[in-house]
Amino acid sequence: MKFLSYRHNHLYFEEVALHRLANEFGTPLYVYSEAALVDNFARIESAFTKMPHSICYALKANSNPTIIRKLRDLGAGADVVSVGELNLALKADIDPQKIVFAGVGKRDDEILAALSKGIKGFNVESEMELQVINQLAGDAGKSAPISLRINPDIDIHGHPYISTGRHHDKFGIALETVRKIIGNFSTYSNCELVGLHAHLGSQVADIAPYAELGQVMRKLIQEVQAAGHRLRYIDVGGGLGVDYSQPIDVATDALGRDDFAFDPSAIAEAISESIGSLGIEIVFEPGRALIANTGLLLTRVLYLKETTGKKFVIVDSGMTEMIRPSLYSAFHAIVPTNLRGGTRITADVVGPICESGDFLARDRELPEVQRGDVLAVLSAGAYGFTLSSNYNARPRPAEVLVSNEDVQVIRKRQSLETLWQE
Ligand SMILES: *Cc1c(COP(=O)(O)O)cnc(C)c1O
Repeated sequence: MKFLSYRHNHLYFEEVALHRLANEFGTPLYVYSEAALVDNFARIESAFTKMPHSICYALKANSNPTIIRKLRDLGAGADVVSVGELNLALKADIDPQKIVFAGVGKRDDEILAALSKGIKGFNVESEMELQVINQLAGDAGKSAPISLRINPDIDIHGHPYISTGRHHDKFGIALETVRKIIGNFSTYSNCELVGLHAHLGSQVADIAPYAELGQVMRKLIQEVQAAGHRLRYIDVGGGLGVDYSQPIDVATDALGRDDFAFDPSAIAEAISESIGSLGIEIVFEPGRALIANTGLLLTRVLYLKETTGKKFVIVDSGMTEMIRPSLYSAFHAIVPTNLRGGTRITADVVGPICESGDFLARDRELPEVQRGDVLAVLSAGAYGFTLSSNYNARPRPAEVLVSNEDVQVIRKRQSLETLWQE
C-alpha cells in the first residue's frame, strides 16, 4: 500500500498516525487515503489515454458517498448493479450518460428508474431480460440503450465465487445466443444495440484473459457491424487484480509495493491490439483495483488465548466488518500500528462473532501483541465495508478519509438505536 509507512515504530497513513485515529474514533474503523485514491485513478486513467475511453467505477467495491464523489471529481463514471447504486451515483452527480447498469436480476422498477434517468447502457444478461426491457421501454415511450453482456467462456483461474466469465457461471449470454439475438434484434423495436460487454471476474492476476477477451470481442464486433448496428462502445468489464501479499519486512519501505497485480497499461495495450483500430470507445469498470489498496481496517486486540497447541489473538473486528477471509479464504496482511520488537508468534486472528468461520487470518506469523494493541488489516478498501453486516447486532463501523494531515469522518459509526428501528 502506498502512503503507508512506519516512522519511529508508529504506522502512518499519509501524515496521520493510525493509533491516534483508533483512540479518537474507536475501533473497528475503516481508514482511506485520498492520495492513494487519486494515484490509483490516475494510473488506470492514463493507461487508456491512447483510445476513446470511460472509466466506470464499480460502486459495489466501495459505495461510500465521499469516495464516489471524489472519483466523480476525478472523471469517473459508474458501473451500478441495483437501483440503490444508481441512486448513489446520481446523488454524487455522475452524469447518467456515464452510468452502465449490470446484473443478472434487474427488477422492473430498477429498469424503469434507469430508463427515466437516461443511462449510458443496460448490460443485458439474458434474452428474457431483453424482452422485458423492450416491453418496459415501449410502455414508457422510450428507447433503451442495450449492451449485450457476453459470456466469453474464459477462465481466470481465481476463486470460484468471483469468477464470472466461464460458461457455467450465471453471468452473461452464451455466444451462440448473442449471435441469435443480434440476428433478430429488429424485433426489439424499443431497444438500440449500442454496445457489447463482458466481465471476466474479479482479482484477475495476469493479462492473458484480457488478451483472449479482446480476440473474442473483435470477431463479434465485426459481426454486429455487418448486421448494420452502429456500436458506440465496448465494455471490457473490471477485474484488474491487486497485490494482497504480506509486506516482506514491515519496518522498511516494503509497505510501498505496487498496488496492482500487474500494470493496467497492459490491459489497454491488449485491448488496443485487438480492437483499438476500430475507433470505438472502450469502457473499463474497475472496482477493486481503484479502492482496495487505498483502505485499511483498524481493530483492537481484546484478548490472547491459547488452547492445545494453538494461539488466538481475539480482536474487535470480524466477519461483520471484513468477511473476505471467511467467504473467499482471502488473505489480508495484518500489521501492528506500533512496532515494539520482541519475539514473533503464530496465531489465528479471530473476531468476536459466534461462528467458527469468523477469522481474519489463520496460522499467521505476527509480532507479539498485547491486549489493547491496534492492528491494521491492510488492503481492505474494496469489498470491506460494502460487505459488512449487522450480524450479532453489531453496528457498522465508522469510515474516515485522511488527506495529508487532515482527517475527515466520511461515515459515522452506526448507532445502537438504528438497530432498534423498524
Ligand atoms: C464486480 C464487477 C466489476 C468490478 O470488478 P472488480 O474486480 O472489483 O474490478 C465490474 N463489472 C461488473 C459487471 C461487475 O459485476
